[in-house]
Amino acid sequence: MANTEQCIFCRIVAGEIPAEVVRETERTLAFRDVAPQAPVHVLVIPKEHRDGLDGLVADGTETAGLLLQECAAVAAQEGVTETGYRVVVNNGAEAGQAVDHCHLHVLAGRRLTDTLG
Ligand code: C5P
Repeated sequence: MANTEQCIFCRIVAGEIPAEVVRETERTLAFRDVAPQAPVHVLVIPKEHRDGLDGLVADGTETAGLLLQECAAVAAQEGVTETGYRVVVNNGAEAGQAVDHCHLHVLAGRRLTDTLG
């Protein structure tokens, strides 16, 4: 488990680092990625620190389900439900996870390539 005092996303949740928040629920936060890879690029995170997907699902399915629900809600709010959007989770070093606080990327607003990596 990472030191949550140092975790950049925990600090965003705590309001210590600014972020452009687009949605918030009791357990989740959605904010715009600082280095967007598409016109819509929003990160959806659990407020409570979990290093990655494994830690999240170890809690059971509820928070994982809420996060997916929030991804769909972000897409609806951004107006891309009909045109399409992609949800990506990079889990672990080889998958390219750079921030060790579980997060789901919601990408949309341009044609995304077929490749998954
Ligand atoms: O999946 P991965 O860990 O690589 O993604 C981390 C994402 O967090 C990056 O897309 C990066 O731009 C974003 N980020 C951010 N705000 C920060 C630090 C990183 O949106 N303060």
